[in-house]
Amino acid sequence: QEGSSGSDAETLVPGTAPGFAPFEFKEGGELTGFDIDLLAAVAEEAGYELAEWSELDFETLIPSLTEGDIDIIAAGMTITDERSQQIAFSDPYFESNQSVLVREGGSFQPESEDDLSGNRVGAQSGTTGEGEVERMIEEGTLSGENFRQFENYPLAVDALESGDVDAVVADVPVAENFAASRDVEIAFTIQTNENFGFGMRQDDDRIEDINEGLSAVQESGTYDELVSEYFG
Ligand code: GLN
Repeated sequence: QEGSSGSDAETLVPGTAPGFAPFEFKEGGELTGFDIDLLAAVAEEAGYELAEWSELDFETLIPSLTEGDIDIIAAGMTITDERSQQIAFSDPYFESNQSVLVREGGSFQPESEDDLSGNRVGAQSGTTGEGEVERMIEEGTLSGENFRQFENYPLAVDALESGDVDAVVADVPVAENFAASRDVEIAFTIQTNENFGFGMRQDDDRIEDINEGLSAVQESGTYDELVSEYFG
């Protein structure tokens, strides 16, 4: 089995993309967050050791997984049909929508997608938030030249604060976190009904153990404890 052959079958190499608080972020140099703690609990229930986390740009997570550099993605990654052609997803573990962030107290206060027209909009490369911007471009609401891609969301929020973009599209819980910690606020939300899952290679049967571990963590109350710790 590609990627795990030769390595200890009981050890999984996890990969994530920090800068997506409260799911995964650095605190005092340490990687932490809901996904990090959740996968640790799930792996323990499933009887796997987690190797050291690989910290990558979001866009490189799927190629790193399929090439065997990592064994499992925990990165607030939405289960989509497009991604499901390349990788397998665990059962869903979190539901999200997208939010549009703008400068806090600024003069630009869009109330709907139509109000974004003529403004510069950013998102993190390879995300479903970027997909929403692409949809608006296709629908003619936004012009493609006003779209800015960023390697990660903190850079997108820097650009928003400094006026290089006028809006950023990001997952609701992450947008709420930026709204609480930076000079930005949520203008409105786009109902996308996304579900996050852990990603694994399509030929990796260990995903069944991960799903069992996830159910156990949900039933034991550990899942709810993590929700109140990170979203409470
Ligand atoms: N949920 C979004 C996606 O899957 C964003 C994930 C992220 O930026 N870490 O594209």
